[in-house]
Amino acid sequence: MKLRELFGQDRPVFSCEVFPPKKSAPVDSIYQTLDGLKDIRFDFISVTYGAGGSSNVNQSTSEIAALIENKYHIPAMAHLTCVAAGREDADRILAELKEAGVENILALRGDVNPDYPPKTDFHYASELVAYIREKGDFGISAACYPEGHFESPDLVSDIRRLKEKVDAGAQHLVSQLFFDNDDFFRFLERARIAGINVPIEAGIMPIQSKNSIQRMVTMCGATIPSKLTRLLAKYGDHPEALREASIAYAIDQISDLIAGGVDGIHLYTMNNPDTAKAIAEAISSIRTVS
Ligand code: FAD
Repeated sequence: MKLRELFGQDRPVFSCEVFPPKKSAPVDSIYQTLDGLKDIRFDFISVTYGAGGSSNVNQSTSEIAALIENKYHIPAMAHLTCVAAGREDADRILAELKEAGVENILALRGDVNPDYPPKTDFHYASELVAYIREKGDFGISAACYPEGHFESPDLVSDIRRLKEKVDAGAQHLVSQLFFDNDDFFRFLERARIAGINVPIEAGIMPIQSKNSIQRMVTMCGATIPSKLTRLLAKYGDHPEALREASIAYAIDQISDLIAGGVDGIHLYTMNNPDTAKAIAEAISSIRTVS
């Protein structure tokens, strides 16, 4: 199933992201994650593609996406990046995905990992989007940034570049994580004014720990609002309290986004099905209000 068929119903799409196990862990450890997620009834599950050229991790993206489609019978979206895949890699991966019945790809540029020289066939996600579109067989999605991508000189050029990706063939967008819904609503307004009319899912990440949030924010440039700073200051050294507070924060964000008419919620699960389950249960009625 192509993901675009999921949108435009009377309720927002609810999806999530998993990542392949690290090289040191057996690929099978993903079963634990997926077994935990399968009863949540996500509309689709996406699988990240490792940064740099780690062939082991990247190989498992296709395998895990195939598993999600064929064992768990949930539509899967495989991520693919320009920095880690040249034309030949892309051809091979697209053939594998097609063979496995995986019909959706999130086309990304990726970030250069200093340990692996980047592939250079595609420089920006829009080029990869156009290449996949030429093949004709896939639903294509792309990334967007409520606060602007960290390399964009300003928000206007950020939206212009985003429009190029959509014009190249991206049919659905998934946002970077953010912690202030006003950033997302303002972004949505800019995107619609610019004529970007594809469905846009809001990316929500429940905080795992003080350290992980610092790392994440450094990597992607998301702003931490004062409300969240207070939670981290108070509960940051108390893992169970932080877990409860971060679940509550995510639920608050999601219920407000759904009330604001968002097309979908994409949960960054960090392979933690218990947190995903707690959030899904708390919004089970909210999800169905049309
Ligand atoms: P692009 O759309 O190519 O944009 C990158 C930058 O280049 C932007 O600043 C843009 O404005 C600028 N730009 C675009 N086109 C041009 C042009 N023609 N000329 C000049 N400048 C231009 N990374 C991974 O490695 N693996 C993953 O699985 C992964 N999954 C992700 C999922 C989501 C939902 C998101 C939001 C991000 C994900 N990332 C992943 C991170 C992503 O790869 C980085 O954020 C990366 O820095 C940008 O990727 P992009 O596809 O948005 O790039």
